[in-house]
Amino acid sequence: MRRIFGFFKSFLLLELLAGLRVTLSNLFKRKITIQYPEEKTPLSPRFRGLHALRRYPNGEERCIGCKLCEAVCPALAITIETEEREDKTRRTTRYEIDMTKCIYCGFCEESCPVDSIVETNIHEYHGEKRGDLYFTKEMLLAVGDKYEAQIANDRKKDAKFR
Ligand code: SF4
Ligand code: SF4
Repeated sequence: MRRIFGFFKSFLLLELLAGLRVTLSNLFKRKITIQYPEEKTPLSPRFRGLHALRRYPNGEERCIGCKLCEAVCPALAITIETEEREDKTRRTTRYEIDMTKCIYCGFCEESCPVDSIVETNIHEYHGEKRGDLYFTKEMLLAVGDKYEAQIANDRKKDAKFR
């Protein structure tokens, strides 16, 4: 009986028709496929992409070298060294993130008391040789300087949910 049923099933192309039914039912629906990278979907202000170190409007680094982000990082991707300045404030002499270890969990950003280390919505970056994804303090500050307006705007949008 099963073999007869199987014969008629393949003879009448029932599986093909079932597949075409799905195609037809979606033919006139709104398209969800986009032509990336020319077209892009909107990103959440909470998107966790490339990291950046921020400055205050007067140019002073926000980071106070408390090392909370380093302590909380589950991937041990952050390395910080600090020193005390003449004015008795503490600043980092070394701040590095190994992006090949980072799992983009956002803990560093959540832990920072001065909103210094943040994750931007930049996700189109890559490295071509060993070490390219090892971000130094200067590289992270450069990302922060370049995208500060966007970073501040994303923080503003998300502020009421924090
Ligand atoms: S996002 Fe997570 S894994 Fe990446 S550096 Fe921050 S705390 Fe570490
Ligand atoms: S980035 Fe924030 S959490 Fe990390 S050391 Fe600097 S001030 Fe502390």
